[in-house]
Amino acid sequence: MLQLRPSCENCDKSLPNESNEAMICAYECTFCIDCVQKILFNVCPNCGGGFEKRPTRPKQYITKHPMQITKTVKPVQMSEFLPLRQKNKDTPPRER
Ligand SMILES: [Zn+2]
Ligand SMILES: [Zn+2]
Repeated sequence: MLQLRPSCENCDKSLPNESNEAMICAYECTFCIDCVQKILFNVCPNCGGGFEKRPTRPKQYITKHPMQITKTVKPVQMSEFLPLRQKNKDTPPRER
């Protein structure tokens, strides 16, 4: 089941289930759209993949299958991340 993480891994901005700003990679790494566009350039710092908008779990299921409570906050270390961003940012995610 998709993990709905409660905040941006980089800036800790709150990303509730109904957020329009939550973006996820194929491993469910979760960032806000501002970080994805302005800092990550659509490159996941953990796996190098791209991001898509996170779907919203319907209200009728969110009590049964709630969001994660524990935050995953691990601000991006730019010096470590820059080579990966440079390598991947100009390759479409489907071709990485
Ligand atoms: Zn963020
Ligand atoms: Zn990832």
